[in-house]
Amino acid sequence: MRYFPIFLDLEDRHVLIVGGGEKALQKLRLLTKTTARLTVVAEEVDDGVADLQVQRPFNILRRSFSESDLAGASLVFAASDDSELDGRVAAAARAKGIPVNVVDVPADSNFIMPAIVDRDPVVVAIGTEGTAPILAREIKAKLESWLPAHFGRVAQSAGAIRQKIGEAIIDPVLRRRTWETLLQGLWRQFVLNGDPSGADRELTRQLDAARNEATPVGSVALIGCGPGEPDLITLKAQQYLQSADVLVVDRLVNPAIMEYARRDAIRIYVGKEREGDAALQDEINRTLVREALKGHRVARLKGGDAFVFGRAAEEMSAVRAAGIPVTVVPGITAAHACAASVGLPVTLRTKVRQFTVITGASAEGPVEVDWSSLVAPGQAFAIYMGVRTAEHFRGRLLAAGAQPDTPIVIVENGTLSSERVVSTRLSLLARAIADKGIVGPAIIFVGLDWASAGLTPPERVEVYEPAAQDAATQSMISQTHSTA
Ligand code: SAH
Repeated sequence: MRYFPIFLDLEDRHVLIVGGGEKALQKLRLLTKTTARLTVVAEEVDDGVADLQVQRPFNILRRSFSESDLAGASLVFAASDDSELDGRVAAAARAKGIPVNVVDVPADSNFIMPAIVDRDPVVVAIGTEGTAPILAREIKAKLESWLPAHFGRVAQSAGAIRQKIGEAIIDPVLRRRTWETLLQGLWRQFVLNGDPSGADRELTRQLDAARNEATPVGSVALIGCGPGEPDLITLKAQQYLQSADVLVVDRLVNPAIMEYARRDAIRIYVGKEREGDAALQDEINRTLVREALKGHRVARLKGGDAFVFGRAAEEMSAVRAAGIPVTVVPGITAAHACAASVGLPVTLRTKVRQFTVITGASAEGPVEVDWSSLVAPGQAFAIYMGVRTAEHFRGRLLAAGAQPDTPIVIVENGTLSSERVVSTRLSLLARAIADKGIVGPAIIFVGLDWASAGLTPPERVEVYEPAAQDAATQSMISQTHSTA
């Protein structure tokens, strides 16, 4: 290691920047975040530099550099566009033993600036000793998306409660365990969400547990994991996954998503074969409560969004009834993901003004809804869990007056590599599903098509349109059925 990383205290220190153009501006953007006393020396100063001065005052000397400017400086940046001037500044600084950075010329510098991920007071510095700054940028980009935007708040708030915890918990082992619970669990989430009273409640709860030497109480997060494609989970979901001790996983959640979790997290699979299996739901509720009472951070992974046909309310009330806090992380629901995946807008100015989501199946069997409202003009809807009950939908909608040629788009295994798209019309709905062999999770869109949106369907769309004669017979049969 040739370059030694350190964090330098610049409080009230004097930093000199020679230059007033783009290079100086780049350095100033970072330096103005510090509490140093900054002085810019340059004959010409860009507007950008002057603009920065408005938010965070510093000195600008509009004249040429003189060696006396170095007096009292702790750091010097040679940041002009004149390499001869930069050379002189560097030589003079060296002679006086002041660390100097010549922007973009590591060979003339005796310190270099790392790439920085700023979550003040948490700062990550990344350096490659000048060999490959692009790699540093790549690491920076990864960390930027991985560290929550308000991560600094967590450190700040931890600093604020440090003394209180030190006084409340004397035993060092218990104290460390409480810190872990706070910093990796619900307290941290409250702080990140900007909810200080929630954070205080959680702190009290954990301090009480520590005083009684009880196991810290766990928590449950209901996490929407999106439609399957692992990149379609939110950053927040990813953060919860990283800190979870126990994962309680739904059948529809792509196993690839578990890659975001800790390797040592316990995984419990609760595949729900059919909607409405009450015994199974009770078992899931009990599992969540049992694991949280052990002090675990439980991540309940659900497909799509937990609040859309996800029975989240039942799980939330069971968990709350046991005195365990529960949070919800939204996910991309299947209808939205499938629509995006096949380029099909779900609302259309002037044509589709209302978009409804509806379940095709319920604990009591096929659903009954206000069919006439669904077939009114300007309506479109997405049927979830409708593959098995498609014939019921077709019959009811036609009977309520829907046009037999109402467009239908079926997306099976949306966003996964096995995704299939079938387009047809309402009169052929159930036949299309049977003939095309659709068996996986699918969304059935009714009343949406690409043509109405002025778009062409993606090439991979399978158009289901049996011979016209055949279709006419089908339509006649269905009308006979519906009037019978
Ligand atoms: N909470 C979930 C829905 C659970 S109900 C959400 O918000 O998406 C299960 C139904 O969701 C399935 O029967 C199917 O209709 C739909 N679904 C889930 N994942 C899907 C996918 N990748 N492609 C198509 N439909 C999907």
